[in-house]
Amino acid sequence: MSRKRVLITGAAGFLGSHLCDRFIAEGFHVIAMDNLITGDLRNIEHLFSLEQFEFYHHDVSKFIHVPGELDYILHFASPASPIDYLKIPIQTLKVGALGTHNCLGLAKAKNARILVASTSEVYGDPLIHPQTEDYWGNVNPVGPRGVYDEAKRFMESITMAYHTFHKVETRIVRIFNTYGPRMRLNDGRALPAFIGQALRGEDLTVFGDGSQTRSFCYVDDLIEGIYRLLMSDYSQPVNVGNPDEISLRDFAEEIIKLTGTSQKVIYKPLPLDDPKQRKPDISKARALLNWEPKVSRSEGVRITYEYFKSLPHEELFKQPK
Ligand code: NAD
Repeated sequence: MSRKRVLITGAAGFLGSHLCDRFIAEGFHVIAMDNLITGDLRNIEHLFSLEQFEFYHHDVSKFIHVPGELDYILHFASPASPIDYLKIPIQTLKVGALGTHNCLGLAKAKNARILVASTSEVYGDPLIHPQTEDYWGNVNPVGPRGVYDEAKRFMESITMAYHTFHKVETRIVRIFNTYGPRMRLNDGRALPAFIGQALRGEDLTVFGDGSQTRSFCYVDDLIEGIYRLLMSDYSQPVNVGNPDEISLRDFAEEIIKLTGTSQKVIYKPLPLDDPKQRKPDISKARALLNWEPKVSRSEGVRITYEYFKSLPHEELFKQPK
């Protein structure tokens, strides 16, 4: 029996590499694509010897050619942390716009089902709480984060247009903050930043007064939600995330306790347009996909801490790419 074939863009990144593992485990032939702008081949090198795995070093904002048939496409290529997309804003807009267009064109040509990785950032600094999928968001298009948020909003729009006008089978997942092994210590997001500081013996930096909230989802839970959404017949956006909300101040204290560091929390000014609260309403995912997160924050953070601790010491001091 021939294997189903899936193309995963952004495959050398944090989420893309976990998707590769999952689809290999499910018996798929995985075609991984990445230009390595923020990703790292070490995340997928354990798959290189497998005959059902191929890697293409390619920028998906340029025309994509994949020989043979494709059953599924998962479009995950995009810088994802503020530190990255503030440094490469044009590439971020291009991969959300041109990259998505190219992936949708490929899906149409191959008659493949496509799932695109959207984000809770489409809600911007939300005026409703928790965020439901029918909320249209509060985004500043010309603010520093606009390059990411608007790229993802365009991604959703063009995906829906391909669904409506070209009858392409599409899925849109709105991913809320996710964490786990293979995140980069220096990607600027709260969890790796706190753990990195604790491991280096530095104080933990909280921006603003720390009352802003986030809801952190462990990567295995997210991947399960994405897999179920892909296999469902639902083409409207679906939130996938963990509704267990915590303030960044309390989260920093949790990391201090877990790591046993003797450092303290220090406060710095809040960056422009930083969302004040984030919590997914996951009623849709529960009802449609029979999905909800299973891994508690204490367990997930402990696994992630062990991963960061196991990295070579010099990784702790590496600057972002
Ligand atoms: P990541 O930076 O670890 O991975 C992104 C990957 O995409 C990298 O390997 C990078 O090299 C690759 N890439 C970027 N531009 C490319 C291009 N033009 N052509 C080919 N490859 C390209 O980020 P991540 O956290 O794994 O995020 C993956 C996807 O999930 C992104 O689309 C992101 O917007 C989305 N997302 C992630 C989160 C999260 O919490 N991690 C939350 C919401 C949405």
